[in-house]
Amino acid sequence: MPRTTPALAAPGPSQPFQTVELERRDLRDDDILIDIAYVGICHSDIHTVRDEWGAAHYPMTPGHEIAGVVAAVGPGVTRHKVGDRVGVGCMVDSCGECEECKDGFEQFCTKPAVFTYNTPAYDGSITQGGYARQIVVTERFALKIPDALGLDVAAPLLCAGITTYSPLRRWGAGPGTKVAVVGVGGLGHMGVKLAAALGATVSTISRTMDKADDARALGSTEHIASSDESAMRAARRSFDIILNTVSADLDMEAYLALLRPNGVMVNVGLPTSRYAVRPGVLVGRNKVLAGSNIGGLAQTQEMLDFCAEHGIGATIEMIGADEVDTAYDNVVAGKVRYRYVIDTSTIGG
Ligand code: NAP
Ligand code: ZN
Repeated sequence: MPRTTPALAAPGPSQPFQTVELERRDLRDDDILIDIAYVGICHSDIHTVRDEWGAAHYPMTPGHEIAGVVAAVGPGVTRHKVGDRVGVGCMVDSCGECEECKDGFEQFCTKPAVFTYNTPAYDGSITQGGYARQIVVTERFALKIPDALGLDVAAPLLCAGITTYSPLRRWGAGPGTKVAVVGVGGLGHMGVKLAAALGATVSTISRTMDKADDARALGSTEHIASSDESAMRAARRSFDIILNTVSADLDMEAYLALLRPNGVMVNVGLPTSRYAVRPGVLVGRNKVLAGSNIGGLAQTQEMLDFCAEHGIGATIEMIGADEVDTAYDNVVAGKVRYRYVIDTSTIGG
């Protein structure tokens, strides 16, 4: 009998989620079975389900911000045991042998990496993600969630946390640096918390002033409405690092103007439009336009430990399975404060 688990699946790009029985593979030697407690809703789930990036496979169970407890282990498992608190992020497999894997960048595996959903696995099946009660993954891709972190507020760290932590570390956010986080959503709010905990002085840039009080509570010392031309003008030439988390098209040059000489604008938001930047805008003051894609396994564990040490979890709104369709619309409308997390016990229950 194949193992099945209740899950939410999108039948197509614009249909509501349905409850299905999803097949999970039998445990291989190095596999673990996880009872998922919570799963976050990332804007990437929405881009993928709505086929904004192409290559969508339906029915699709998204979800790559997974937190739960180990329910069973394969015979060769050494890293985890039944009862351990674990998380799974955006990846579930990689070759483990190429230069990228060895350097801790499993997301760039040349085989290539297997992402948690909507991706061909090495056995030819299409991966199905965490909007489900259970998942089976190779033990290497399960991270340890420290006891100090609640599973609910830890779930979003597996994508929103690492995706903002990684570029902040790479570009040196810390004491003496000024960081601006653009877009105060799921990724953005984590970027503010993490940059502040790293010791940087943090500003937030949002479409309006609506999130000003929240931003301050998250660790921002200055909130700028991008719609306020004079405030944007006053902020010119003031940041060492701009972390752009916006899910939609942006006027890049307007933000690059806010960088100090030698500053970096690192983009993690993934709209499908092109960046429009004249070379002179970068060349003039040695500016860097960069991108960043999640983070490797070792750095994800480092981020979870950092969050436990600094008491950082995501700011979440808990929802049930029947609220996911509305939640998608709310995320797109910018109404979420600041990450929806699904209580997976409500799936098929
Ligand atoms: P989110 O919660 O929807 O946050 C995006 C924020 O962007 C919103 O809160 C809003 O902030 C701002 N925004 C939205 N529409 C805008 C518009 N038309 N103009 C200007 N600002 C707008 O999404 P998320 O989950 O944080 O994901 C953000 C992006 O990162 C998505 O494109 C996602 O696919 C991508 N992503 C990338 C990676 C990676 O590895 N690089 C990983 C995960 C996600 P304000 O209300 O403050 O203006
Ligand atoms: Zn994500």
